[in-house]
Amino acid sequence: MRLRNIPGADEAIADSPHCIQEPMAEKGRWHLIFGNENPIHIEIGMGKGQFIMKLAKEHPDINYIGIERYSSVLLRALQKMEIEPLPNIRFLCMDASIITEVFDKEEVAKIYLNFSDPWPKDRHAKRRLTSSRFLGLYDQILADGGIVEFKTDNQPLFDFSLESVKESGWTLLMQTRDLHHSEFAEGNVMTEYEAKFSAMGNPIYKLEAVHDKKA
Ligand code: SAM
Repeated sequence: MRLRNIPGADEAIADSPHCIQEPMAEKGRWHLIFGNENPIHIEIGMGKGQFIMKLAKEHPDINYIGIERYSSVLLRALQKMEIEPLPNIRFLCMDASIITEVFDKEEVAKIYLNFSDPWPKDRHAKRRLTSSRFLGLYDQILADGGIVEFKTDNQPLFDFSLESVKESGWTLLMQTRDLHHSEFAEGNVMTEYEAKFSAMGNPIYKLEAVHDKKA
């Protein structure tokens, strides 16, 4: 994501009813924020929010939480929410590395990772959102049977992620190296990056994985 520091972004987030200012205070209490017991799905690295906002519109019976670490990027999603507010979505401006301090054990039903930063240098592998370090964090907050869904156009990152899923003892539910021309294309919701990269002719890779808690 190309970043410009947008003046006023931090203030807009601090003032927004759609952003939770102290997410750690809500650990174990997210259902109270939404006022219902619907399942909670999160997207980590949501960017400008196109994907998660479309899902929230299509599935009013699911609560969505979008996580983005840069205020100048998250601001774009807030601007869209002002035009079309959705009751079943909230945003968090934070780094995913503190996710277990924000969500309680089994509080999340599904995690989406879309076009996550590749961190190509080996010494930065732990920062990849599909590394075994992050899968370990997801395992702590996901309910039994909770799925991680990951899309990318980056082949080395996809190969790394497959390896990481296997090494961490997760089960691969599906994988494709050309999502848009596969049996899994129907119902696919495109992200901003996905639209951009597929328009350039790049194939889109996708996997879904689950960790059996009883194993
Ligand atoms: N998911 C969007 C899409 O597919 O269009 C945006 C993809 S962009 C390449 C990756 C986004 O993830 C960036 O906005 C970046 O700031 C965010 N991000 C990367 N690592 C993160 C982390 N550890 N915690 C929160 N956000 C993160």
